[in-house]
Amino acid sequence: MNESPDQPLFVDDRVEARVEAVEAQLGATYAAVDRVLERNLVRILEAFRRRRLSPAHFIGSTGYGYGDAGRETLEAIFADVFGGEAAIVRPHILSGTHAIASVLFALSRPGDNIVFATGVPYDTLHPVIGPSGRGQGNLPDYGVDVRIVPLAGDGSIDIPAVLRAMDDRTALVAFQRSRGYQDRRSLFVAEIGEAVRAVKTKKADVCTFVDNCYGEFVETIEPPHVGVDVIAGSLIKNPGGGIAKSGGYIVGSRDAVAKIAYRLGAPGIGLEGGAVPGGWLDYYLGFFLAPHIVAEALKGAHLTAALFASFGFRVDPPPHGPRTDLIQAVEFGRPDVLLTFMRAVQAASPVDAFAVPTPGEMPGYQDPIVMAAGTFIQGSSIEFSADAPLRPPYRGYVQGGLMRAHVKYALVRAFSELVRQGLLSITDTSG
Ligand SMILES: *Cc1c(COP(=O)(O)O)cnc(C)c1O
Repeated sequence: MNESPDQPLFVDDRVEARVEAVEAQLGATYAAVDRVLERNLVRILEAFRRRRLSPAHFIGSTGYGYGDAGRETLEAIFADVFGGEAAIVRPHILSGTHAIASVLFALSRPGDNIVFATGVPYDTLHPVIGPSGRGQGNLPDYGVDVRIVPLAGDGSIDIPAVLRAMDDRTALVAFQRSRGYQDRRSLFVAEIGEAVRAVKTKKADVCTFVDNCYGEFVETIEPPHVGVDVIAGSLIKNPGGGIAKSGGYIVGSRDAVAKIAYRLGAPGIGLEGGAVPGGWLDYYLGFFLAPHIVAEALKGAHLTAALFASFGFRVDPPPHGPRTDLIQAVEFGRPDVLLTFMRAVQAASPVDAFAVPTPGEMPGYQDPIVMAAGTFIQGSSIEFSADAPLRPPYRGYVQGGLMRAHVKYALVRAFSELVRQGLLSITDTSG
């Protein structure tokens, strides 16, 4: 492989022609992505105008951070755009996992139970939900019973099973919109809304929660628009627009958000404190750009799906169809194909392009994981990245991309390398 920084990357003309031909078929799909972007941008601009956003809001605060108008306005804007009454938007939230864990702890009390309505949650939440006795202070340690309801056979929410799992001590019913890195499909906002209506009919005072990671701005509505009480996510994914350098957000009803603020901070302090000496410009600019960046990433995902499909690979979701998140699964079939793809993606990255991805052990995973991520912001998966466990059928996940053109170039580069190494034939398949 010509990974050496001293040599230009190898590009095969036939591969380039294939990518152009595949992309030429995506015109209507790209146009549909742009229509969603336009609707979401208008919602953001309307919120900026309603909240009278001005340069004074970018300044930031020190010490306790009381009366930080930039923070209060940003939180009001997130609530407006995502359809809630209140929000917490902070660089101090460590990650999406921290935001989600704060919601789970804040909205349950000893003796309560939480029903996970979309199967086993995302990997990083496993230590949060149990088992007890690890000394980490997880939900069961605090006497909260966690109940997991698998998805139905067709990948939809098994509403009757969710209702059966609930009882009068159910404090929270939780949903995960994105597949994460699981072999299941992602759930559209409308489907979640249908389940929420059934749950509320059974128990009117139950709180409903959606892990919204990777979903923001992929559709024209967000979960609170269909009656969900609380959502949470990461600012180094969609809503940070590639600009926010850390943090997470929570949006929901005034009552729920107040409880979460007491848990995240301290009882009594709630939302009133939290200084950001560096100011809020990145958060406003990132949120403004987010629908556009999400659209770029989605075009990259459609192109990835269409190109792999043209070579006979299994992809999920398929190209062209509607989406609700950014994750593209690809079945690479062979470890050498997977590794070659990952290395080419890394070599086409803006940062750390000289690094060579190598499978490694990761805590919580049984198989070695290989990752390609040359991102400006550490671990940011709104930037173009890919990862996969090294086990048959070598299913990998490709996500993000600040620019469609970057994803396209990485694909040209990766498929050129696959052809050059004889792992793929370009002559016996037709675009
Ligand atoms: C990324 C993600 C999380 C956790 O976010 P981190 O910021 O990595 O902690 C949770 N759920 C889903 C579905 C995710 O995609």
